[in-house]
Amino acid sequence: MSHQFATRAVHAGIEPEATSGAVMTPIFQTSTYAQASPGEHKGYEYSRTDNPTRTVLQAQLADLESANHALVFASGLSSIDAVLNTLSAGDHIVAGDDLYGGTYRLFTKVAERRGLQFSFVRAQDPQAVEAAMTDRTKLVWLETPTNPLLNLVDIAAVSKIAHAKGALVGVDNTFRSPYFQRPLELGADIVMHSMTKYLNGHSDVVMGALMLRDQGLYERLKFLQNSIGAVPGPFDCWLVLRGLKTLALRMRQHAVGAQAVAEWLEQHPKVERVLYPGLASHPQHELAKRQADGFGGMITFFIKGGLEESRRFLSTVKLHTLAESLGGVESLIEHPAIMTHASVPPEVRAQIGLTDNLIRVSVGIEAVEDLIADLDQALG
Ligand SMILES: *Cc1c(COP(=O)(O)O)cnc(C)c1O
Repeated sequence: MSHQFATRAVHAGIEPEATSGAVMTPIFQTSTYAQASPGEHKGYEYSRTDNPTRTVLQAQLADLESANHALVFASGLSSIDAVLNTLSAGDHIVAGDDLYGGTYRLFTKVAERRGLQFSFVRAQDPQAVEAAMTDRTKLVWLETPTNPLLNLVDIAAVSKIAHAKGALVGVDNTFRSPYFQRPLELGADIVMHSMTKYLNGHSDVVMGALMLRDQGLYERLKFLQNSIGAVPGPFDCWLVLRGLKTLALRMRQHAVGAQAVAEWLEQHPKVERVLYPGLASHPQHELAKRQADGFGGMITFFIKGGLEESRRFLSTVKLHTLAESLGGVESLIEHPAIMTHASVPPEVRAQIGLTDNLIRVSVGIEAVEDLIADLDQALG
């Protein structure tokens, strides 16, 4: 019998531990495992290769993303790097032009030096993806919604285009979480998460994951997980297992809070424009409704003025913490041009509209009235 998401977030892949009956998955804090005779073991040899706490986490993640397999990595970026390592020098990747700054840096400063070639396109327009594809295109890499401009990419439409030309589609689903959006159900081949954000949800772990259905691709990526060795430790895996149990509750509250804050900001005289997929004014509001079960907890808005007004506002908020990252229970606020996206060159920032009066909010699970009161005093 298949259960609803909130039930699976608590139970999927989790059984009482075999020797003791412990209800909560233990932290198997060990690097190695005893063998009865050479090669005769219980499925575990060395913790870079496999660890029982990690195995449980991977099983639960696969279930939540409608995947057959999940693999976890030491960070979101190292999970993207594992995908890049399935490719060879000369292979071509089409990627959205409005990506997390660290992903853009990995592509342009690391992967290009290894001979991979990238085209960055406005992926909100599926035709732009199609036009950029060549005979050597092996991968289309998408973020939706994008960070920080909250543009949406039509995953089903782009998957159809990519598959017709023999390329795989990877989707960075960090901003939505599987509670709201499951790209594999829409035709994507690989889902990636920075679990540093919503999946762990408590701002105390850095970790990444890949989820996928294809057995051959899984075996290739599992080989790379072990061969490269960017694996998380058992304690961090346990923290994410703990965080996942409340994923459904947290995501619901993030979305309720973000909708209220976005609507409030939209009518504020010192705010020029608000970007939130749950607002009717969002240019892709219809796609947002069709493609996902909710609009998430991230808001971007343009304050009236420029850098000086942004600085004053960001130095005056009290309840919102001025910090990078997102997806935790506490509300965070930041200035992408100076903080998270400083590694995107100024001319690219200008081209995609990442201006100095742009502010990004990760709406936490605090009382909405308190969050609005804080923004109100800072804008005033
Ligand atoms: C944070 C983030 C990443 C990178 O993940 P790390 O865990 O920091 O390595 C990738 N994509 C998005 C959308 C992110 O927000």
